[in-house]
Amino acid sequence: MNCNKAMVLMSAAIDGELTSKEGEELAQHLAECPECRSEFQDAKNTKIIIRERVLRVKAPKTLIESIVKLTTVIST
Ligand SMILES: [Zn+2]
Repeated sequence: MNCNKAMVLMSAAIDGELTSKEGEELAQHLAECPECRSEFQDAKNTKIIIRERVLRVKAPKTLIESIVKLTTVIST
């Protein structure tokens, strides 16, 4: 698997939409690829942060989008 495919699977994994076969493939790639591993950690953390904020303040969609943009800027 290449890193692009891994990215697609990562986002599906975070949304809980991964089949068990895809999950195995992703886990295997993450075991071999430190870059994707840290990417996946960040993605999971970001998602958790966004969820917490949404629950706490019932943020409008535009605010959530700006949080996503902000975290993207920070992590690059
Ligand atoms: Zn990779």
